[in-house]
Amino acid sequence: MSLIEIRTRLDAALAAAGRAAGSVTLLAVSKLQPDAKVLQALQAGQRAFGENYVQETAAKWPPFRTQFPDAKVHMIGPLQTNKAKQAVELFDAIHTLDRASLAEKLAKLAQARGQCPDLFVQVNTGEEPQKAGILPAGLDDFLKDCHAMDLKPQGLMCIPPDGVDPTPHFHMLAGMAARHGLSGLSMGMSSDFELAVALGATHVRVGSAIFGARPTA
Ligand SMILES: *Cc1c(COP(=O)(O)O)cnc(C)c1O
Repeated sequence: MSLIEIRTRLDAALAAAGRAAGSVTLLAVSKLQPDAKVLQALQAGQRAFGENYVQETAAKWPPFRTQFPDAKVHMIGPLQTNKAKQAVELFDAIHTLDRASLAEKLAKLAQARGQCPDLFVQVNTGEEPQKAGILPAGLDDFLKDCHAMDLKPQGLMCIPPDGVDPTPHFHMLAGMAARHGLSGLSMGMSSDFELAVALGATHVRVGSAIFGARPTA
C-alpha cells in the first residue's frame, strides 16, 4: 500500500503551492477494496475515506467505526434519492449533491434529524450529457434553491472529462467556489491530485494510487 508515498507527494504539492501543511484532506477512496486493505490504512493512521456505494458502506463501515471512532467516511458516488435516508446516517459528508430532487430530500432529512452531513455540490464542468452534476450556468440558481430550503453546501466537487487536461476544470470550479464564498473544493484523483492541490483543492479523492487497482465488482 502506498499511503505513505501519497501523503509525501501531497505534502510536497502543498509546499510547492505555498499552502499550509495539512490544508488538504486526503480521502482514501476504498470502494470495492478488500477490508484488509482498509484496515491497514486505518492502522496506518488514515482517517478520511471515500466510498461510492451505500450498500457497501452499510456493510463495511459500522465495524470499522466501532474500532476507529474518529474515522470519517465521505460519499463520492451518485446518490439515489431513495437511499438518501440511509446515506445521511452513514456518511459524514456527501460530495454528490447533483440535483434539486436530492436537495429537497436532504433538506427534509436535515430538518427531521437536526443535523446534516457536510455537502458539496457536484458541478458538471465538462457539460457532459452522460455525467451527473449541476451545469455551471445553473449553479447560482441551484445554490439559491438550496439556501431557500435551509441547506448550506460547504463546497463544490467535480469530475473532469476523461482524457483531457483537467486544468481548466479545476480553475473553473475554484472560481465558482470563490464567487459563492464556498470554502470546500473536492477535486483531484490518483492521476491529477497534485495539480488539484496547486489549484486550491481542499479534498482530494485518491483510490488506486493508494490501494492499487480496484477489484472489479
Ligand atoms: C473512484 C473515484 C475516485 C478515485 O479514483 P482513483 O482514480 O482510483 O483515484 C475519485 N473520485 C470519484 C468520484 C470516484 O468515483
